[in-house]
Amino acid sequence: MHELKEYGAVGIEKCFNCGNCTAICPLASDEYPFPRSVIRRIQVGQEDRLEQQLDPWLCYYCGDCSATCPKGAEPGETMMAARRWLTGRYDWTGLARKFYTSLAWEIGSILLVALAVVVIILFFHGPLVTERVELNTFAPIEIVHLADWIMAGTLLFFIATNVFRMYWLTVLKDRSLKIPLSLYVKEAWHLLFNAATQARWSTCASDEQDPIEKRRKRNAWLTHILLVSGYGLMFFIIVFMLPWFQTDNIYPVHNPQRWLGYYATGVLLYGTVRALWGRAKKEFQMHRFSHPSDWIFPILLLSVTLTGILQHTFRYLGWPLPTYYTYVVHLAVTAPMLILEVPFGKWAHLYYRPLAIYFEKVKASARKHALSTTEAFAPAD
Ligand code: SF4
Ligand code: SF4
Repeated sequence: MHELKEYGAVGIEKCFNCGNCTAICPLASDEYPFPRSVIRRIQVGQEDRLEQQLDPWLCYYCGDCSATCPKGAEPGETMMAARRWLTGRYDWTGLARKFYTSLAWEIGSILLVALAVVVIILFFHGPLVTERVELNTFAPIEIVHLADWIMAGTLLFFIATNVFRMYWLTVLKDRSLKIPLSLYVKEAWHLLFNAATQARWSTCASDEQDPIEKRRKRNAWLTHILLVSGYGLMFFIIVFMLPWFQTDNIYPVHNPQRWLGYYATGVLLYGTVRALWGRAKKEFQMHRFSHPSDWIFPILLLSVTLTGILQHTFRYLGWPLPTYYTYVVHLAVTAPMLILEVPFGKWAHLYYRPLAIYFEKVKASARKHALSTTEAFAPAD
């Protein structure tokens, strides 16, 4: 319980197990008293059991439980802290744990990666053409693209090994379950569907009686999915289509290169400003408490967007030096956001969440399968 407080939990010790949170939580069922059971597990210090649970990932922090808790035990924030703690447990490098529990580590690492990017560009940039903008002469696209691929390969390695650790802790370690391979295939659509739509979040709003609250929850889901589509698109373009995107040719406005870029920029700008504004105003339950990681990720994303807009504007205005300098700053904020946030920081919830839903479905199917097999072979009375 004390360890979880380092990850942002507040007031867990006040919980006296009344069950109000379970009564209101859309994820709870008659058989499963969520989130009360998770809180109890934390209170009694069952680290190993908590490590094997997928449930904290199923919660999208609608905040209803915290709003109804009579003791101010903040169950919603506890689930949030549990997700950070679990991210630290899945990550074998120990970096996620450091970033979530030490601001100095997180800020220091961001600055270090940013500085490394600036130094590398300082030594290896191409000729500085000042008569006109020649970005691809200053930063040769083959080199930038190669660096992109190296970065993507490294990220994939860390993500894959951490995801395997999650799978081992939450599925494989449970020796009571025998899961046929066919069930993984049968339930795979849950992974893709939830990664693309985050439908679980929208179920938080579906039961809502109050129309204002219902709209608020729907808007929060919509903002989040727009934001995800924006940086998902940007990530895809940067890693797979950079030579098409970073070009010295100025395309007409109807070219997909322009409007895909404008779409991603628009939703990133809207989503990050909305997220930061909500946290600053503490307008919703889910924004009442903010861990440093809740600020750092949207600030990095906003900085990436703003420096991208600036660089794009200077390029269109035909100003060579401001274009090159903002490009360097843009890379210096983009690199730590991708290298540190994707495998070890807040970004990781984007793949852990749909994976948790998928694993949960596979486990439920395996239990059903085992039950039907036992019943089929049970001796008749
Ligand atoms: S977190 Fe609050 S509402 Fe939930 S069981 Fe504890 S005291 Fe009750
Ligand atoms: S925040 Fe919402 S989904 Fe999460 S535990 Fe509380 S009531 Fe359930």
